[in-house]
Amino acid sequence: MSKAITPIKGMPDIVPEQMPYWHLAERRIKRVLEAYGYDELRTPMLEKTALFKRSIGDETDIVSKEMFTFESRGGDSLSLRPEATASCVRAGITRGLLHNQRRRIYYYGPMFRYEQPQEGRYRQFYQIGAEAYGLAGPDVDAEMLLMLARIWRELELPGLVLKINCLGVSLGRERYVETLRDYFRGHLAALDEDSVRRLDTNPLRILDSKVESLQGLINQAPPMQDFLSDDEQAYFAAILARCDDANIAYDVDPRLVRGLDYYTGMVFEWQTDQLGAQNAVCGGGRYDQLVKQLGGRDTPAVGWAMGMERLIALLGLGDATIPPAEARVYFVTVGEAAARAGTLLLEKVRDALPSVRMVAHGGTGSFKSQLRAADKSGAEYALILGDAEVEQRQVAVKPLRRAGGEQELVAWNDLEQHMIALLGEINTQ
Ligand code: AMP
Repeated sequence: MSKAITPIKGMPDIVPEQMPYWHLAERRIKRVLEAYGYDELRTPMLEKTALFKRSIGDETDIVSKEMFTFESRGGDSLSLRPEATASCVRAGITRGLLHNQRRRIYYYGPMFRYEQPQEGRYRQFYQIGAEAYGLAGPDVDAEMLLMLARIWRELELPGLVLKINCLGVSLGRERYVETLRDYFRGHLAALDEDSVRRLDTNPLRILDSKVESLQGLINQAPPMQDFLSDDEQAYFAAILARCDDANIAYDVDPRLVRGLDYYTGMVFEWQTDQLGAQNAVCGGGRYDQLVKQLGGRDTPAVGWAMGMERLIALLGLGDATIPPAEARVYFVTVGEAAARAGTLLLEKVRDALPSVRMVAHGGTGSFKSQLRAADKSGAEYALILGDAEVEQRQVAVKPLRRAGGEQELVAWNDLEQHMIALLGEINTQ
């Protein structure tokens, strides 16, 4: 036997046993998003590398260290998307989706980051996210938070904590960056190599450092709040007031800067203490300058992305147990004539009951072994077709679970109606 080819590090398969959780989460989240007026946008997984450099920022970990980048046959530098906001904006501009109008968009799909894989941190992972364009004002920031709180309720996920902060723009931000630079310069010897580099490029990013020995210094750093303009303070207060009105608890965290450069106003993260080090389940914020920066018209924007693997891990910790999908009918045929006639017969029953799960044994096997498989499958009925049945144009319908049920012989012509009577109404959808 030849050796199996191993999967790529950090790129998990999601096996069928896990899928019921994924489907449940996907269904409920999409239901909430669509109910709030968000429409799905699907963008390609590959984009020109320049898109991410210009949006997420050259100096971020994501762009400087974590992108899967390669040269196309035509000589372009391409990257697998590490996130989807940049693609949404690119699509919005190039497809005219944002032209002079408000637009609420959601997306769902795999993202790629060359990180050190560990529990909850992968090189391919799924994000579902929402973006609102052309909407300025705290109402839409609050809408995002209320919508997420509803998603947690729909998924029965307690214990998520909202961390929120406000990053200023323009002058205040520049003054803050200078203040931070001076502050960290004063502690140069304590800084690690990355932070020293960021002193020049973007000192804000030092606040986001996970280096253990820097945490004390970071906690003592001057807070952004002192540099916000009156308007920015009022804007942030209005968002918080709406959270208060809606009974959404939050924790204002002045160190929260998030790992992407494009944020300009509110930034937030929903965190859990149940998943170890990978505590962020969802993050986002306002990015009012990105559309213009990527070549579009000045368009206010706000959005978030949620990591599905972490969400599913949380769902798995809860009480929700989802029974695996079971076939309701198991189809057994013995002999070539039965196999041939049976294929069409089963198709007819499927026509009558299109959403009922019916599994054909397939292949060969003795009558006895096939019945054993039928029993093990958990199905309610076995449909049995052998030479004798074919000759009489009948099928044996054997109840597998219902106590006292007797096996019946049913004429081929009556089989559809018989199965409808046993399993349910005609599904007209
Ligand atoms: P970000 O795009 O960095 O704002 O991340 C948004 C969310 O995506 C995070 O809160 C995580 O839940 C999830 N996420 C980010 N990176 C990873 C990763 N490498 N593996 C799994 N989930 C991730």
